[in-house]
Amino acid sequence: MNLLLFGAPGAGKGTQSSLLVDKLDMVHISTGDLFRNAIKNQTTLGREAKKYMDKGELVPDAIVIGMVEEELKRLEGRSFILDGFPRTVPQAQALENLLVRHNTKADKVIFLEVPNGVLVERLAGRRVCKNCGAVYHVSSRPTQADGVCDVCGGSVVQRDDDKEEAIKKRLQVYSDTTKPLKEFYREQNKLVELDGTGTADEVFGRIQAALKV
Ligand code: AMP
Repeated sequence: MNLLLFGAPGAGKGTQSSLLVDKLDMVHISTGDLFRNAIKNQTTLGREAKKYMDKGELVPDAIVIGMVEEELKRLEGRSFILDGFPRTVPQAQALENLLVRHNTKADKVIFLEVPNGVLVERLAGRRVCKNCGAVYHVSSRPTQADGVCDVCGGSVVQRDDDKEEAIKKRLQVYSDTTKPLKEFYREQNKLVELDGTGTADEVFGRIQAALKV
């Protein structure tokens, strides 16, 4: 089974993808993570993407689509979960073509619905380990020692795009550009709309029930 996971920034896509990957042995393709890795490794792609990401804007379609195609080539028949892609109608159309070319398809599109107030609270309080990527929250999941990752001892920081101005911009971009994709997938009868509030385990329970896994 191949899945697309989408929802606003802070809806829990990354967390739920990790849970799904553990349970269903799928390959997790997160375009946000791919860009963050490229930035960490100081590649040309990373430098280009950072200009947009820090402002809370979307990276141009051509760059993202090319990057996803490279990832799909490496799947070699394994199931995948695409997290954070597509985010625009042109990306969704390009994905259709890419999947046909790679002889595969998306089976379900999970959409996590979370009210804006909850999203802002989640994003503004989110902290991540610069080294291993572990995710924390200042109030709901704090680190044991201030600013130090419980897992690897790396330094735990706020993502540049989780700062107030960028959060506002990302939520706006989401509602203007990404949310319309719901219609695109509803028309294909692939859309599974789920309540994304509550704990990670509660949301995961809803996903499992909806997918019957
Ligand atoms: P995420 O971690 O999924 O919230 O992504 C972080 C940032 O990476 C986004 O705010 C965008 O700047 C960029 N990004 C990730 N996925 C995409 C995409 N499909 N299209 C354009 N930009 C993206």
